[in-house]
Amino acid sequence: VAAPEPVAASPAAVLPYQDPSAPVPDRVSDLLARMTLDDKLGQMTQIEKDALVPQSDLAAYRIGSVLSGGDSTVSPNNAQTWADTYDALQRTALTTPLGIPVIYGIDAVHGHNAVRGATLFPHNIGLGATRDPALVQRIGRAVAEEVSGTGIDWDFAPCLCVARDDRWGRTYESYGETPELPSSLTTFITGLQGEPLGEGPAPVLATAKHYLGDGGTAGGVDQGDTRLSEAELRAVHLPPFKEAVRRGVGAVMLSYSSWNGVRSHANRYLVTDLLKGELGFGGFVVSDWAAVDQLDGQSGFTGAEITTAVNAGVDMVMVPHDYKKFLTLLRGEVAAGRIAQSRIDDANRRILTKKFQLGLFERPFTDRSYTSTVGSAAHRELARQAVRASQVLLKNEGGVLPLPKSAKLFVAGKSADDIGNQSGGWTVGWQGRSGPVTDGTTVLEGIRAAVTDPSRVTYDRYGNGIDSSYRAAVAVVGETPYAEGRGDRPGGLGLDQEDLQTLARLRASGVPVVVVLVSGRPLDVSGRLPDWTALLAAWLPGTEGAGVSDVLFGDYAPTGKLPVSWPRTSSQEPVNDGDGKDPLFPYGYGLTYSGAGPTSPPAPGACTARFRTASSWQGGYQAEVTVENTGSTALTGWSVDWDLGGSRVTSLWNGSLTTAGGRATVRDAAFNGSLRPGDTTTFGFTAEGTAGTPAPHCAGS
Ligand code: BGC
Repeated sequence: VAAPEPVAASPAAVLPYQDPSAPVPDRVSDLLARMTLDDKLGQMTQIEKDALVPQSDLAAYRIGSVLSGGDSTVSPNNAQTWADTYDALQRTALTTPLGIPVIYGIDAVHGHNAVRGATLFPHNIGLGATRDPALVQRIGRAVAEEVSGTGIDWDFAPCLCVARDDRWGRTYESYGETPELPSSLTTFITGLQGEPLGEGPAPVLATAKHYLGDGGTAGGVDQGDTRLSEAELRAVHLPPFKEAVRRGVGAVMLSYSSWNGVRSHANRYLVTDLLKGELGFGGFVVSDWAAVDQLDGQSGFTGAEITTAVNAGVDMVMVPHDYKKFLTLLRGEVAAGRIAQSRIDDANRRILTKKFQLGLFERPFTDRSYTSTVGSAAHRELARQAVRASQVLLKNEGGVLPLPKSAKLFVAGKSADDIGNQSGGWTVGWQGRSGPVTDGTTVLEGIRAAVTDPSRVTYDRYGNGIDSSYRAAVAVVGETPYAEGRGDRPGGLGLDQEDLQTLARLRASGVPVVVVLVSGRPLDVSGRLPDWTALLAAWLPGTEGAGVSDVLFGDYAPTGKLPVSWPRTSSQEPVNDGDGKDPLFPYGYGLTYSGAGPTSPPAPGACTARFRTASSWQGGYQAEVTVENTGSTALTGWSVDWDLGGSRVTSLWNGSLTTAGGRATVRDAAFNGSLRPGDTTTFGFTAEGTAGTPAPHCAGS
């Protein structure tokens, strides 16, 4: 009796890789086994949306990823049209035999900045000044919602560059000049992705970029050469990436720059041995825009460049235009045995794992319930809060700030009434531009809304018409938008002629001048500083200019601290914390309001306690919190009370935090329990000191 013929699977049957209840590694293996070489090479290929002509090429070439570069847009530029564009591409991708969804990436580097009307947060340098990991995590979540509302799955952020020379045009994309500051703000990744990736609503894949040493190039030259010993590279530039990997970042983008003459995209030691091996990075590595085809110093792909990059550890190549040539060459390199099949499989395994974890196979289309979050009031309120917290007060002679809301004020400067200037580069276009490029509130509008009588506020961009009857002049001056190498200023960072003339007019009136500096980095101000009564670094605040006026009028006292050292002149560059140079304002500097005024000085016994990390320990977990003495007296006799999923543990800790700003990390409270991958638990903690009346007490979770 013949054995029965196996029953052919009906077309509707769910294949193992399509089964959402199967473990992701199993789904990946099943899918890989069904893929042709062309399917696999396509997954490694990322194309600029506008280069995809005709759109059916997406399926024909089995393209795995699409991006919108800085100048890519849709018409009309609104969230709805972005979502429609995304869904059309996804529909095309799903027509391939295996129906592998495309992953779509974009540079939402300070909000969903390609989309007109999106909420724009301060650029990273301003977030660095907040030193507030929890705030940055909330911003990551808000960005994820706005990005999800347009269907897009993947954000080329955060930039974890450690900017060491302010002449570099990407300084504003950095959270700061020390390894610690960007490391602490990798919470953005958790906000964006959810924890772990895909478990929460509206997950967006994060990208730690640009690996490695982009902020350390000689002379602050974009895409230049970082000349450091390996020990220095590891000490200064690696820590934020380590922390990003620990947080489960999904992608890492390589840097155009070189390390001691070797391009990152060609550096197998950095990418494969260090990042994927030593740090254990399990996500995928994407190249930067056209970086692979520039490896030999000329544009246009060669097979040798592709082999070098893929064998160095690049999993996905941001082509972004000539995909036909790229795929032909890649196929040729594999056929010739110069790229091993195992390397292709490894790259695919990494990419497909993230697609599965993101839920793309189950939810390939835009979740339209998030579309209305783009530019929502709640997100704008969060951005305004971030703007306030990012202000760094550098000078405040005679306590001119905060300004009384009833005062007669004169407002001037090219950035007082300019959303484009206050948003900087990467704003509805790669380079950004001056003018009303998107919706928001200018600093001037914020001022007018804050004062008791708007008719007592006079505005003239150039400072014409000021006289001695005004209480203060507010000059909003600084940089106009730029991005990447176009912002490099090897010759120094002075104020432009227009600003100098405006400031001179204000100064001639004898009225106290409050300078609000809108810039992506410290500018050369030391020669002018004596002329100004106050100086407030506003960085590039984004669309919510009212956050600046909140501080000017003292509704909120400034709390920002310099994320970078502020040089006396650009000739002092590079100037960084701990290098023994004598900057104008050191890293960490920042004044607040004191004495009489709407905001009271810090209480003597104030402190903050923040969750730092938890790690496995002896079969359970132990957690760490950092307690900071934010008051003005020494605090002693501390204990920390942990509330670990219901059980209370008190740990005695007899340290003392002597000076204001003193900080201690308490690692304690091991709890035994098991957490399976994906489980979460919450624990609370309170820290108490015995000195002071009332005894200082702070709590968190
Ligand atoms: C930048 C990247 C960016 C990419 C895609 C490149 O020019 O260096 O930071 O993610 O373009 O827009």
